[in-house]
Amino acid sequence: MEQITLSVRKTYDCDVLVVGGGVAGISAAVNAAREGARVILCESGGCLGGTATKGLVGPFMTCYDKAGKTQIIRGFFEELVERMIKEGGAISYRECPGSDSRAGYRHKGHIGVTPFLPETLKRVAESMCLEAGVKLLYHSMLIGCDTADGRIGQAYLATQEGIDAVTAKVFIDASGSASLAHKAGAETFRGDENGFLQTASLFFVIDGVHKDELDAYMKAHPDMRGRFYMDIIEDGRKNGTFPCGTQKLRIYERPDGSWVVNMAQTDKGVNELDTEALTCAEIDQRAQVMQIFHFLKSNLPPLRDIRFVESAADLGVRESRRMRGKTLLTGEDVANSRYYDERIAVCANSIDIHQAVGVDYVAYTADQNYYIPLSALVSKDINNLLAAGKCLSADKYAHAAIRVMPPCFAMGEAAGITAALAVKKNATVWEVPVTEVQEKILAHGGYLE
Ligand SMILES: Cc1cc2nc3c(=O)[nH]c(=O)nc-3n(C[C@H](O)[C@H](O)[C@H](O)COP(=O)(O)OP(=O)(O)OC[C@H]3O[C@@H](n4cnc5c(N)ncnc54)[C@H](O)[C@@H]3O)c2cc1C
Repeated sequence: MEQITLSVRKTYDCDVLVVGGGVAGISAAVNAAREGARVILCESGGCLGGTATKGLVGPFMTCYDKAGKTQIIRGFFEELVERMIKEGGAISYRECPGSDSRAGYRHKGHIGVTPFLPETLKRVAESMCLEAGVKLLYHSMLIGCDTADGRIGQAYLATQEGIDAVTAKVFIDASGSASLAHKAGAETFRGDENGFLQTASLFFVIDGVHKDELDAYMKAHPDMRGRFYMDIIEDGRKNGTFPCGTQKLRIYERPDGSWVVNMAQTDKGVNELDTEALTCAEIDQRAQVMQIFHFLKSNLPPLRDIRFVESAADLGVRESRRMRGKTLLTGEDVANSRYYDERIAVCANSIDIHQAVGVDYVAYTADQNYYIPLSALVSKDINNLLAAGKCLSADKYAHAAIRVMPPCFAMGEAAGITAALAVKKNATVWEVPVTEVQEKILAHGGYLE
């Protein structure tokens, strides 16, 4: 058998390596660079945004408290949204009061969402990274790293021409699946004690909705079953014209008048870390997407003239492997609004769990805000490793609440600042005083009350 020898082709050196260019990675990279760190962001795809762009997922969920009155996610998130608005690629959350087409006709938890166009996010995020001095490496997939004495020294990236190596002082795992933490030998976990994971969904985009008719239909149907066409969908499932367990109409209007549809799913679940299983799910759901498109067109009068625009390049994976941090944020913390002195973000999104047929949506939280502690972003095992975004240290329930994009931006901001401070102080990420991180978050216009 032919022996494959992998030798390092190119080496890079930086202060902070961010793995993954989703919303958490973008925020982490820009914020670390603005604090003076030399930052590299490596991304296996060819653009920034991750689930928000390659997965076509949107809108940005609410950045307000439960009452929809106080904006609690601000800072970098707000800056990026303002820039996207200037480019015509987002509508301000201030103009989205909930209940309407941009909120998918939902009210609870949907006051102050931000509809946006993935193309604008790709460009604005790239500009912000480049302006801050972040070096972007696309088509570079982290495949391993050297770890000794509780520190990562060097990471290895698979590229078209071979392996590149990156040395850094601090590493941020924003891969969405704790790939770096896993490869570094840090403790990671996946699912809950029963191995439960939320369903994954392939988004698609349509246009040609008769919006005035749909608006009028929604107004005339205050009850949930009627409003979201649940009986029609259930009948379709029974007679084989609707392909999966999704129970409700889930469509959201975007700034250009197109609509994003979040309805496909593989009911039996997907092992998102297994290439063959992931490929099968993507093929299966791409077929489902066409069935759902034709179902909506044939059965929902306001959607009778819809046209198909595109399906997402990547399956939207709600939940994957996560890093075990110094603290595990729990559903109890969220439901009881547990206060952390070392909070780096204040959130309010409900616990939102998508399962196969039967239970489609579960939500409960107190009517108060809850808090993400910095110690849920630092590895308990590796002293120069942070995680941000959906691979933070949180149990199933807490994760289901804070996995939405505004909290992911906020986590990225805190991780980036912490990493840069660790570099400046020649300290471990465990030693960075949280008060200094908080001061910087507040100086950027953040909210920590
Ligand atoms: C179906 C679905 C519906 C959702 N609906 C909403 C919604 O309406 N509103 C909302 O706000 N949120 C929603 N969310 C949640 C939200 O989109 C995600 O949780 C969030 O975008 C995660 O961001 P992230 O940066 O942590 O990770 P990701 O977006 O997963 O980004 C990770 C990035 O890392 C890259 N990467 C992975 N592994 C490697 C590697 N080894 N080397 C290099 N790069 C790597 C990936 O290519 C990707 O670009 C939804 C999610 C899904 C899946």
